[in-house]
Amino acid sequence: MSIQEILDQIHREMLPRRDRGEVATYIPELASIDVSRFGLAVATADGQVYSAGDAGVPFSIQSISKVFTLSLALGKIGNSLWERVGREPSGNAFNSILQLEREFGIPRNPFINAGAIVVTDVILASSSPAEALAELINFIRYAADDANIYINDAVALSEKATGHRNFALAHFLRSFNNLTHEPDLTLGTYFHQCAIEMSCRQLALAGRFLINAPGMPRLISRDQVRRINALMITCGHYDASGDFAYKVGLPGKSGVGGGILVIVPGTAAVAVWSPGLTAQGNSLLGTEAVQSLAQQMDWSVFG
Ligand code: GLU
Repeated sequence: MSIQEILDQIHREMLPRRDRGEVATYIPELASIDVSRFGLAVATADGQVYSAGDAGVPFSIQSISKVFTLSLALGKIGNSLWERVGREPSGNAFNSILQLEREFGIPRNPFINAGAIVVTDVILASSSPAEALAELINFIRYAADDANIYINDAVALSEKATGHRNFALAHFLRSFNNLTHEPDLTLGTYFHQCAIEMSCRQLALAGRFLINAPGMPRLISRDQVRRINALMITCGHYDASGDFAYKVGLPGKSGVGGGILVIVPGTAAVAVWSPGLTAQGNSLLGTEAVQSLAQQMDWSVFG
């Protein structure tokens, strides 16, 4: 079967499913999303884009933004980033504060909230929040070759109003001197990056720079792309990262908006969206969809 036929088949078979998980409820903007939304898109290294279902509908990318901020931060300060953030799976929830005290304010990895807040602090180094966000949006627009990508301000404001745990993490980081700005400033930027909206199609296109293939947008070095993929496969799904690696066998990053960006090194970038989540905050059908796609396409980093 062709990629398009496989996407159509997955969409057809999964659309009627009732066991879809629960949409995120911590902010009204996510709580009101229709759980039956379902989109898939694949951008391949030979320049094609395939899609099915709600692939053109923008959704809140949430923690998938952490891949783009990490890319920016690595591009800016290179390996010195690792003096402030670790590279180990956490085995804890995305917003856990537990390890932060034991590990002296060095977050386990850049994809849990504490680590992502430090990464955002890095991209703020010599810029105002507005400049840093403009740089981030421009990075994503360039990667996707699409200027029509925006931040949803209502989502950002809701994130701020409910973000007590993120404030706790930021103050904790600051107490260990691992936050160079006031928590308000760094978090204001972090909440806006989480509120970026993209469709599956835009997200798959934006992910092409992580494929590491000729002809794809080059935004950071090949070496850095490899390392980001390594972090995605080990840490991209919070305390279900091992399970995702086992089932899908590809680097991926999820967000509580129900999106997942998956990279098939050398071959393709895949984006799926189904807003119903597992207990760990990862898209339930989205994971099953990429598992099925990877299996049928025989895509795996494990040969
Ligand atoms: N805005 C969410 C938070 O910081 C993002 C979490 C996620 O997508 O996993 O709590």
